[in-house]
Amino acid sequence: MTPQVILDRVRIVLCRTSHPGNIGAAARAMKTMGLSRLYLVQPLCAVDEVATARAAGADDVLAEAAVCGSLAEALAGCVHAAALSARLRDLGPVAVGVREAVGPMLAQTAVGDVALVFGNETSGLSNEELQCCQQAVTIPSNPAYSSLNLGAAVQVMAYELRMAAYGGLPPGPATQATPFVSVPAAIDDIERFYVHLERVLAQTGFHDPARPRRLMPKLRRLFARAGLEKDEINILRGILDSIEKPTGPKHRSQAVEPEEK
Ligand code: SAH
Repeated sequence: MTPQVILDRVRIVLCRTSHPGNIGAAARAMKTMGLSRLYLVQPLCAVDEVATARAAGADDVLAEAAVCGSLAEALAGCVHAAALSARLRDLGPVAVGVREAVGPMLAQTAVGDVALVFGNETSGLSNEELQCCQQAVTIPSNPAYSSLNLGAAVQVMAYELRMAAYGGLPPGPATQATPFVSVPAAIDDIERFYVHLERVLAQTGFHDPARPRRLMPKLRRLFARAGLEKDEINILRGILDSIEKPTGPKHRSQAVEPEEK
């Protein structure tokens, strides 16, 4: 894959953006670094002339931006999502550094789209939005003044992605000593797994939806750390099915059958 093909698989996802100028600035930041796929999740403002002015020639990125009703919709089909957050939360996904994040992220483009997810200007990302992502990335900054402007945060990440894409191609599956057994799970499949898991845990009595404590965020963190593959999701879903509808021994092997490549 060429560096440009790699960059074409990166989605920049802006959640609940309030200021059109920031959407325009993000489009400009993206285009200067060769990114083009902008997703707007529940934007709180119109993509108006202020956005176009700030885009300063990147209006093609604005015009092609996908407007989504939910973060899950924006991440559908992605194999990896990283949340950009100035503030770390105790139960969010595991935090990694910017450069630690971008290399492996670009490597994942060999098997699908990847996403960087940015929050609202005032409130940042919600806990629910953070939990849709496998990693949290913090841009190193002054601890006493750590929050970058949204467009500036997009610029920093777009720059790092470009440097990583052009400065030495990330290892794809073909160059790895041990080839992937299975492709990474799609984010929407992972979300369906969480719904299934929560339902079964409620049925078994392990989980009380009326008193959830922090079970699901903790389990999401655990599975995000594991970097679930498609086959593994199938196995986990098969296990959950076998708990919900036990049919005896024949259940045992069907989920672990390796998938045809
Ligand atoms: N007041 C908000 C920050 C909003 S800035 C808060 O405290 O969370 C808008 C968005 O830019 C953030 O949600 C985040 O996605 C990104 N951002 C800003 N500064 C960042 C930093 N230092 N590291 C990572 N992301 C940052």
